[in-house]
Amino acid sequence: MRETRSTCPYCGVGCGVIIESEGAQITGVRGDPEHPANFGRLCSKGSTLHLSATPVVLQTRRLLQPLQRLERGAAPQPLAWDAAAEQVAERLAAVRAAHGPDAIGFYISGQLLTEDYHAFNKLARALVGTNNIDSNSRLCMSSAVSGYKQALGADAPPASYQDIEQADCLFIAGANPAWAHPILFRRIEAAREARPHSKIIVVDPRRTETAELADLHLQILPGTDIALFNGMLHACVWEGWIAADFIAQHTEGFDALKALVRSSTPAWAAKTCGIKEEQLLEAARLFAASPATLSLYCMGLNQSSRGTAKNTALINLHLATGQIGRAGAGPFSLTGQPNAMGGREAGGMATLLPGHRDPASAADRAEIARLWGVEALPETPGKTAVELFEAAARGEIKALWIACTNPAQSMPEQALVRAALAACEFVVLQEAFADTATAAYADLLLPAATWGEKDGTVTNSERRISRVRAAVPPPGQARADWAIVSDIARRLEQRLRPGAATSLFAFDTPEQLWLEHREATRGRDLDISGLSWALLDAQGPQQWPYPEGAGAGRQRLYEDGRFATANGRARFVAKPHGPAAEGCDARHPLTLSTGRMRDQWHGMSRSGTVDRLFESEPQPALRMNPQDLLRRHLKSGELVRVRSRRGELLLPLQADDAVGPAQAWLPMHWGDEFIGGRDARGVPLRGVNALTQPRFCPDSRQPELKYSAVRVEPVQLP
Ligand code: SF4
Repeated sequence: MRETRSTCPYCGVGCGVIIESEGAQITGVRGDPEHPANFGRLCSKGSTLHLSATPVVLQTRRLLQPLQRLERGAAPQPLAWDAAAEQVAERLAAVRAAHGPDAIGFYISGQLLTEDYHAFNKLARALVGTNNIDSNSRLCMSSAVSGYKQALGADAPPASYQDIEQADCLFIAGANPAWAHPILFRRIEAAREARPHSKIIVVDPRRTETAELADLHLQILPGTDIALFNGMLHACVWEGWIAADFIAQHTEGFDALKALVRSSTPAWAAKTCGIKEEQLLEAARLFAASPATLSLYCMGLNQSSRGTAKNTALINLHLATGQIGRAGAGPFSLTGQPNAMGGREAGGMATLLPGHRDPASAADRAEIARLWGVEALPETPGKTAVELFEAAARGEIKALWIACTNPAQSMPEQALVRAALAACEFVVLQEAFADTATAAYADLLLPAATWGEKDGTVTNSERRISRVRAAVPPPGQARADWAIVSDIARRLEQRLRPGAATSLFAFDTPEQLWLEHREATRGRDLDISGLSWALLDAQGPQQWPYPEGAGAGRQRLYEDGRFATANGRARFVAKPHGPAAEGCDARHPLTLSTGRMRDQWHGMSRSGTVDRLFESEPQPALRMNPQDLLRRHLKSGELVRVRSRRGELLLPLQADDAVGPAQAWLPMHWGDEFIGGRDARGVPLRGVNALTQPRFCPDSRQPELKYSAVRVEPVQLP
């Protein structure tokens, strides 16, 4: 038996794993006791990883060779790798020649490794010449990115997991780590035991397992987070709980914010949020007066049409009370995906460039063009996730290359996304798993290696870069993502840069891509010029920044009170409470929120291959408050039709008093397993995103997956 140290491919906690293998078969997995994220522990998903790589799964669920669909709807036929790669290069070159570079789009994934991100980003921007590259991380963390940038000057989570153990007050808002970040939750529980005086406040419309651990659960109405944070700030100002010296020395914009929150009285805010005024005042007092307050937040704030404002309203509280830049204090966004952070660092999104640069900045574009050895990078703004599919539906995007994600299931307003895929002239899907909903729309399927089969790096929520290592070779003809991209890019180069002396994609190993990525960080806030793969191999995972000569990464940012803005001062961002993008009315009186279950991951491409992970939740159910069931003469277990303005689903109902009145909650994971569903025109659809809506935050462009108006009706069975 061989042992290989690697990293779990599920959530952003980034736990270290030791893969056990025999020959070409992964036989087991256990937690890496030396990894500083998990110290040997794994959750239900991580500890069953090997079961997603059994011979049966490899033979029945994996894409093992390139496949070509000669016409839409037909069964895909095998084709040789060489022919498949030539075909992609030929079709992309043809679309570019006929319609320009912006007729091509790339939709990639926070599951990809940093090296894969780098390859795709360079292909899109330096060779194709488009900024139309975005990632499913848009659905995950982009509001946290824009919140950090607006308030603190850089997309850099200031805290570390160790701060959980040093916090006197944990303020958990819009996050359910008990299910979504289970190993971090174990650390929260252990910290609570070790420091019995510490307090936990949870802000969540649902009484989650995390909320059950809290001293104070603020069960706010959906979409009222800004009212809560502004009301708490009003209380802090009124009661004198603010850190006046810190505000004067290290921030700007407080007067405008103070004027804004003058009308956000605790009484008004509590009423708006549907909680008691005493609860809001107690939360404000604990937040401000605790020696160290750490906020943990995630999709509840991010997946909103006001996502950035929700993030900055919470950061305002930290700045006003001086709860930042100290042990156990600071705003700390929890990353959803295993390498959403690495994708941000590599700039593999429409609104980013490598090294936290900005594609709207001519100077930033010029720096990356010089590093990559091309004349210039494209200037036209790229389309973000929702915009990309809207443009495809309008016929503006003709060719779409999708990697390691399943937008036909996971994007909001599923009907529009499926129409967009159908409208594209050429859809390439680079995937490890053969039977995703998106695969049905692909003209060409390219088999990709996945966890346990490829090398590279990922960055977790606390800025820690870990190595990912291959324990076994990829099955069949599957290849590493960076290698697929580099091969096709070299073929495209022959068409777009004939006679070029050297290739932009002369990569033989993923480490070469990483070294190029590393150069783009030099001198930036995320500088990793002092790191190497050899150092990561010898000393284990490291946090950034880690500049040359540093000797160690930095555990905590802004300890000197100097922020990443031009003048070093953090910025208060004054934004009022406002309504969600889609309102309820008499026809759609319930607010639907979506979220994760403990034992499943995203669209279940991988976790759905493991029978054991269905034991706690065998099928999806719509959860509603028992009072709402009574009022509608509905019973737990019966089949209901849930309708939004975009589509409908049939599924069982489950009474759950953890869900607030006039609300409904649905897990995000299931797709084709739903009993039935269709869009407003009767086209069959599956999964929660038949119902959700695509309106997004104007700053982060992250769609509002946590708030859709729906109604629920009984189903008359024949
Ligand atoms: Fe994997 Fe996240 Fe579980 Fe850790 S907490 S084992 S990273 S799924």
